[in-house]
Amino acid sequence: MKREFAVIGLGRFGGSICRELSMEGMEVLAIDNNEDRINEFKNIASHAVIADSTDEASLKELGIKNIDHVIVAIGDDIQASILTTVILTDLGIKKITVKAQNDYHEKILNKIGANQVVHPERDMGKRIAHNIISNNILDYLELSDDHSIVEVKVGNKMLGRTLADLDIRANYGCNVVAVKQGKDINVSPSADHSFSEGDVLIVIGADKDISRFEKHLV
Ligand code: ADP
Repeated sequence: MKREFAVIGLGRFGGSICRELSMEGMEVLAIDNNEDRINEFKNIASHAVIADSTDEASLKELGIKNIDHVIVAIGDDIQASILTTVILTDLGIKKITVKAQNDYHEKILNKIGANQVVHPERDMGKRIAHNIISNNILDYLELSDDHSIVEVKVGNKMLGRTLADLDIRANYGCNVVAVKQGKDINVSPSADHSFSEGDVLIVIGADKDISRFEKHLV
């Protein structure tokens, strides 16, 4: 069964979500108050409609109540983003994802009932910063303010040594949850796994511990 989504605000972020969902075969109702944006998405989304999402009556008319998941991707106009989210919450939309512009915006969105608040620029900035610090860090996912999961290339000092031998958990307080080698992924590496060139480790732990592990071994 096709799932139904609505994307409000078709800037770079909302536009990209709308394109990707449509490409995956999902039903997408695209909404923007700018006619040019709507024209751009006419042939991409299932429906593309000009509407001001801060106007409750317009949203009701579009049948937004029947949509499973609404993504609010209004950019700079924080007031419009907040008001739209309030209206969607009042209408009883089950899943609301909203893009936040800054930390205050994020706090308010969480308070008024957004189910998921995303901060794409900040998060991507962090991921890229980690990648810049060390070429060996391939990806970075923040779990909380002080815990993360990182994907790192095996360090030279680790080659030929085993997980037991390095005792990463005891020495650095973080866990190697998986080891990738090309397309193969081993999600429960055994203690006698011996590291070789090309291994990629998925490591979970407190940021300070991961950082120590990276400095010493990667
Ligand atoms: P990005 O940073 O993702 O590129 P933009 O600020 O460029 O975001 O885009 C936000 C989009 O949201 C614009 O296309 C704008 O027309 C649309 N938008 C802003 N306010 C409203 C509103 N009240 N109702 C519907 N669409 C809106």
